[in-house]
Amino acid sequence: MGVRFRPNSTCLYCDAKLEKEPTINRANYTCGGICYRKMNRSLNYFNPEINRRNGQSMFGLSMIWWTLRNAGTPLTHHQLMSRIRSNFGDMTIFKLKLTSTTIKYFDPAYYHIEETSKGFTFQVEDVPFNVALRSKYLNVLEQVT
Ligand SMILES: [Zn+2]
Repeated sequence: MGVRFRPNSTCLYCDAKLEKEPTINRANYTCGGICYRKMNRSLNYFNPEINRRNGQSMFGLSMIWWTLRNAGTPLTHHQLMSRIRSNFGDMTIFKLKLTSTTIKYFDPAYYHIEETSKGFTFQVEDVPFNVALRSKYLNVLEQVT
């Protein structure tokens, strides 16, 4: 499934305004090379016991954050995945990972999980991805140049 529009006008990592607006044909998720390289790190990059080439990329995590941040309302895992697909396209990286696992990469001060009759819902504060990320992960990413 392709996308009909590009949702972001700021960098998914640092929230800076994009120099080039994304177009239908060309995604632009970061403000420049450094943020792009940080985002291409796999989540497993942080775990030396796991092969670093596998695993969900930071891009996937940033899209989860961006979508929750812009939702303005708590979302279930299913609602979140469906919004991510309509915003960013049908990417395989989202199929297996549960929101409750990936949300733990963020500072608990910035997200809220609630158990409702529909299941768990997730809501986040309106802060940039690189503010919300737990400092132990952020510190590693800050060393990427
Ligand atoms: Zn950036």
